[in-house]
Amino acid sequence: MIEISGLRRYLSRNDTAVRLEADIKFIDVDAQYPADTLWFEIRQDYGRAFADDTYDAFLLVGLYLAMYHKTDLRIRGNVSKKLYKNAKWYIQKILCDFSSALSPVEIIIDGFAPTEIQGRYVGAGISCGVDSLSTIYDRFVKETDPDYRISALCIFNCGSHGDFGAAHTQQVFRSRVVRSVEVANELQLPVVIVDANLHQFRHDKDKDTVLFLSFYSCVLALQNLFKRYYIGSGCSYTSIKYLNMHHDLATSSDSYLIPLIQTERVELIIDGCQYQRVDKIANIADWDIAHKYLNVCLLQKGDDSTNCGKCSKCLRTMLTLEILGKLENFAGVFNLDEWRKSSFQYKVDSVRRADEEIFFSENVELAREKNFPMPTRKDCYVLDGQVLVIND
Ligand SMILES: [Zn+2]
Repeated sequence: MIEISGLRRYLSRNDTAVRLEADIKFIDVDAQYPADTLWFEIRQDYGRAFADDTYDAFLLVGLYLAMYHKTDLRIRGNVSKKLYKNAKWYIQKILCDFSSALSPVEIIIDGFAPTEIQGRYVGAGISCGVDSLSTIYDRFVKETDPDYRISALCIFNCGSHGDFGAAHTQQVFRSRVVRSVEVANELQLPVVIVDANLHQFRHDKDKDTVLFLSFYSCVLALQNLFKRYYIGSGCSYTSIKYLNMHHDLATSSDSYLIPLIQTERVELIIDGCQYQRVDKIANIADWDIAHKYLNVCLLQKGDDSTNCGKCSKCLRTMLTLEILGKLENFAGVFNLDEWRKSSFQYKVDSVRRADEEIFFSENVELAREKNFPMPTRKDCYVLDGQVLVIND
């Protein structure tokens, strides 16, 4: 059995932070983990944002570990009735479909948590990537309904910046915090930074699942602050319908998993599926904040948080912007001289691989719509597996 107990909220780090914590015990489970608690931490003056009357924030990772070890999950306290029922009836099935290493288990709880809404804010993550900026542009800049307009931004340190405890992780996290705080300040929005240790548990072996469950758990920890929270999706409904994308838990299932990660007090909304990636880039292409802060790079090294201009994500984003006629707007975040040297080869690759990968096909389709000239077969030929380009 995996048992979660002892829920508490207390001052930590010499009273500069507040921690929400619970004990986790592996009883008759053959496993060694580097921690015996699960915790979230926030700066001291935001401490009341943590809900300490419910174990909701500990349920998803506890459930995942129980399903992995094929043992029951015992929570010695209360959880949201809605989340409990969804976890028992539906979420376990989705996780089992995603990973053959997981099996259904029993969830045993003491009772149900209070249901009165505590949070007044509408939240969203800020990473400065295309998905995050597009959601903020739509749900803050363009939105006028205060019930749905973003009123606080969040950064969670729960696995998306690297493995727990690695020096590189903290370095990447800090550099991203600096950029995100600059954006939040420009937008005059508060930014909530949450540290957590949920990714001490199997994140190194199964990041594709643990990262996302940890991320959703951070939102559940903040139920005294948020009544609504937007999760930016990288997948469009179109791609979900036509393609079998199973890179990780989010790309495989977030369109139907996130609507089940709800309590009576906080609603998680999946945002971004209504767009293809090229549509999101078009959405933010005239936004001054995006011109200054867009960061899509896969190759971030420590404190260096600039776009490398060479990785697949940088290249495909620059091509979309060039097709849209907006690339010059982004001269501050991409090295356009480098792009001009490599762009023709990348366009050749995009045309050649348009049937293989949606990110290539979206750009090729957009080029066709916009009458943007792309290389054709007469411009290049293949010799020994290499594409050779004939320049005029
Ligand atoms: Zn890059």
